[in-house]
Amino acid sequence: MGALLQDGHGRTFEYLRLSLTDVCNFRCSYCLPNGYQKAPGGPANLSVDEIRRLVTGFARLGLWKVRLTGGEPTLRTEFLEIARNVASVPGVRRLALTTNGYRLAERADDYVNAGITALNVSVDSLDPQRFADITGHDRLAEILKGIDKAREAGIASIKLNAVLMRGVNDDELHGFIKFVQAHGLALRFIEVMRTNDNVPFFEQHHLSGIEIADRLAALGWQRLPRAAGAGPAIVYSQPGLPGEIGIIAPYSKDFCASCNRLRVSATGKLHLCLFSDHGLDLRPLLQSDAQEDDLVDRIMVLTGQKAPAHRLHQGHSGGTAHFASIGG
Ligand code: SAM
Ligand code: SF4
Repeated sequence: MGALLQDGHGRTFEYLRLSLTDVCNFRCSYCLPNGYQKAPGGPANLSVDEIRRLVTGFARLGLWKVRLTGGEPTLRTEFLEIARNVASVPGVRRLALTTNGYRLAERADDYVNAGITALNVSVDSLDPQRFADITGHDRLAEILKGIDKAREAGIASIKLNAVLMRGVNDDELHGFIKFVQAHGLALRFIEVMRTNDNVPFFEQHHLSGIEIADRLAALGWQRLPRAAGAGPAIVYSQPGLPGEIGIIAPYSKDFCASCNRLRVSATGKLHLCLFSDHGLDLRPLLQSDAQEDDLVDRIMVLTGQKAPAHRLHQGHSGGTAHFASIGG
């Protein structure tokens, strides 16, 4: 493993979230309520070779976990080729995918063969009508079938992501508990976050994850110790029973202290924080394998400048219009 990548606040980075495209076929009400709108004349997405060089540079600095995200990453025509390339970069030990589950049932075997070892599937409601209202697609049954297929295909780590929304799905805690316990699955409740495009939605529907944590504790769920390389979720389980529920609560105190991730957009911009004002361009250093040392130096210098915490509490959610543009 290479030298560890650190910032000026004692945090070490092991985990890269890489967006493959801004494009999405869903219309989630908190993300792209009017669907994906193509911005005219923007730069192309990183090519397969640029992605391989990028991940090689990060892996030299000790990053061992990569998550492919988007937009909907599986819409990239070269998706499997990208996954294979990333999985074979020396030092990459875990390749994860975050997806809305589109065509998962048909493609789960291909994902495993391409080297994907962990999967997060967005399922914001277990009620078919509500799922359709949130995402714009009446596809809950198809996506749940995809999750079954992914397990059969041998993906060991499968998590459901559910964005927590007051007045939308906050009455579904018991349904989600029954589901994760029946299927032995992990679920992550993510607090809805404010972006530049969703301010009224956020103000109407934001619900603190701590409220859900309190409800779980009242039902006898217990907090689990944080696993090595784990994300920001505070994870609970009910002793003696299968299934776990994690809570990602970026508005809670000290959320940023354990940050272990960096993000790169589909066009090669490094985002030191999900809520940063803009990305820092790495693409000029991805044009040939001979630039690898310069790329590594630049990643180290830029990461050293990461701010200690986001400024959400001051009403500042950065320059991001929606998370489809950076991968959430
Ligand atoms: N399209 C894929 C999907 O939905 O899983 C990957 C990209 S999506 C941007 C990644 C994650 O971010 C999803 O779990 C999604 O629910 C979450 N997300 C998007 N916008 C969000 C917001 N404003 N607040 C909280 N989570 C959000
Ligand atoms: Fe698409 Fe994912 Fe955003 Fe939903 S959350 S609109 S699936 S990018």
